[in-house]
Amino acid sequence: MAKQGVRRRRQRKIEDVDGSDRTVDLDVLQSLVTEMLLSLGEKPGRNGLLKTPERVAKALAFMTQGYQRNIDHLLNGALFPIEYDEMVIVKDIDFFSMCEHHLLPFFGKVHVGYLPNKKVVGLSKIPRIVDTFARRLQVQERLTVQIAETLKSKLNANGVGVVVEARHLCMMMRGVEKQNTVAVTSSMLGAFRSQPQTRLEFLKLIRRGSVGDSD
Ligand SMILES: [Zn+2]
Repeated sequence: MAKQGVRRRRQRKIEDVDGSDRTVDLDVLQSLVTEMLLSLGEKPGRNGLLKTPERVAKALAFMTQGYQRNIDHLLNGALFPIEYDEMVIVKDIDFFSMCEHHLLPFFGKVHVGYLPNKKVVGLSKIPRIVDTFARRLQVQERLTVQIAETLKSKLNANGVGVVVEARHLCMMMRGVEKQNTVAVTSSMLGAFRSQPQTRLEFLKLIRRGSVGDSD
């Protein structure tokens, strides 16, 4: 029983991580946006709204393009053998995503660290991996875990740490209306989970100011 549960979970994860053949039907989206405007009591025929359904459909397609991206394709040719085994950190990666509960944006910064195991990934690929998962309908917790697990498995890294700090418009504009609340999530895998000093080093390095600042 337990085994089956694990297998099912893994299958779903692979589907989530590798993207899928999900396609966007712009025509359907456009007519749904027109319906939505009507439901809101608006007049889709008025001047300012004439092109809105088309714009919204295109914007939604852009903001969810991560579904069409494939991580293996992205990393193809970007993994390099190396003897270096010290921590690699890429911090302050800006991201924009959309919460799957309200279809409203959440946005902020991602900090990524990993301990290489004989190979590293080109540094520019890490923000691309972040975008691949951010440009989907998400919850912040899952976004964090997907980035961490992808790096861990694709790099066979000895450890991975991911911290995501974000503001959610669904909290800021509605609901609790807390404008300054930042949600922080983290995922620590391998050595980042088992070795407190590794985790502490990572957390200390991402807390430091910009390059050149004294800390
Ligand atoms: Zn929300």
